[in-house]
Amino acid sequence: MAMMEFLTTRKDELVGWVRKFSLFPYPFVTACCGMEFMSVSSTLYDTDRFGAALPRFTPRQSDLLMVVGTITHKEAPVIKKVYEQMCEPKWVMAFGACATSGGFYRNYAVLQGVDKVIPVDIYVPGCPPRPEMVIDAIMKLQDKIAGERHPILPFEKQKDREA
Ligand code: SF4
Repeated sequence: MAMMEFLTTRKDELVGWVRKFSLFPYPFVTACCGMEFMSVSSTLYDTDRFGAALPRFTPRQSDLLMVVGTITHKEAPVIKKVYEQMCEPKWVMAFGACATSGGFYRNYAVLQGVDKVIPVDIYVPGCPPRPEMVIDAIMKLQDKIAGERHPILPFEKQKDREA
């Protein structure tokens, strides 16, 4: 049993290392933070260094949902559907003040944070956030992914379901 746990732990480390350097973002861009998303995607900031440079424009091929901009109550069901269409494992970044908390839009139309409808793994503050802050968030998310359990073997998945 100890040997099995040792192997499982080493496997989690290996899979975590692989996954953290192969992120495929889906940018759900709704507002002005999109300009900063374009900036962070430029060669100057080179997100290829983190294995996160290739956006996928379908949720089915993505594992990192980047919520970039203001989310209204009308958009909330749409973003929930996009999240549900993504395969596991998947992570979510709230990009900027609006996605994080509604920003300065305290009104009836704006969702006060995308975490009201989907789970968020990392929040990036700022209106808009500087590209360096986004890169810092990507690195923090990578640390989180590296430290997670990565059940891929059938008996591990069964154990996770029972827990
Ligand atoms: S956080 Fe600021 S820059 Fe980003 S979408 Fe909201 S208002 Fe625009």
